[in-house]
Amino acid sequence: MRLIIFGPPASGKGTQAPFFTEKFNIPHISTGSMFREETKKDTKLGLKIKQLLDKGHLIDDETTNLMVKDRLSMPDAKNGFLLDGYPRTLNQAKYLDEMLNEAGLKLDYAIDLFCDDEIAIKRITGRRMCPKCGKIYNIYFTKPSVDGICDVDGTLLIRRADDTVEIAKKRLEIYYQSTEPLINYYKNKGNLILADGGLLDAAHTFDQIINKIGDKK
Ligand SMILES: [Zn+2]
Repeated sequence: MRLIIFGPPASGKGTQAPFFTEKFNIPHISTGSMFREETKKDTKLGLKIKQLLDKGHLIDDETTNLMVKDRLSMPDAKNGFLLDGYPRTLNQAKYLDEMLNEAGLKLDYAIDLFCDDEIAIKRITGRRMCPKCGKIYNIYFTKPSVDGICDVDGTLLIRRADDTVEIAKKRLEIYYQSTEPLINYYKNKGNLILADGGLLDAAHTFDQIINKIGDKK
């Protein structure tokens, strides 16, 4: 099963990924994690990526395409993959199609995990973390028993500085601007699947996706 998944920040892509890896026995390939890994290496590519990320820039298509091509040629991706964070532009989408085409393969589905803005913003701005044990809470959805205090060890919870409404709105806006053309691209190709990433239970979101895959077969 060859899949890509995209969705706005806080739509739950990271939460969905393990369901896919388990059900289809495919690797979860996140370009975001790949970039972060690469910056830890002392290579020319790692340095270039670090400089771009530090300035808040997106990594250019050429670099991203080559990294993904390299990753998809590894043995664990032979029978499929779940790509997350790629393609991000129309050029990347076309490159992926050509790459698969050359290997006699095709993308099975493009999953669009949509999420209501209000829920996404609450998920982002409501996030609180325990600096001691790392447990994550959300003041709207998964509150600690005592406000602001970790249930496990009584530590004062902290909020990330960039989890503000303004920054959340900006991130959503950038996402919609850049991804809209992709949604149309896959809609036209007929392999787009929509699923609601805003549900409280992530397993229900995964059920929606599996049902739609079943319908299309
Ligand atoms: Zn804690």
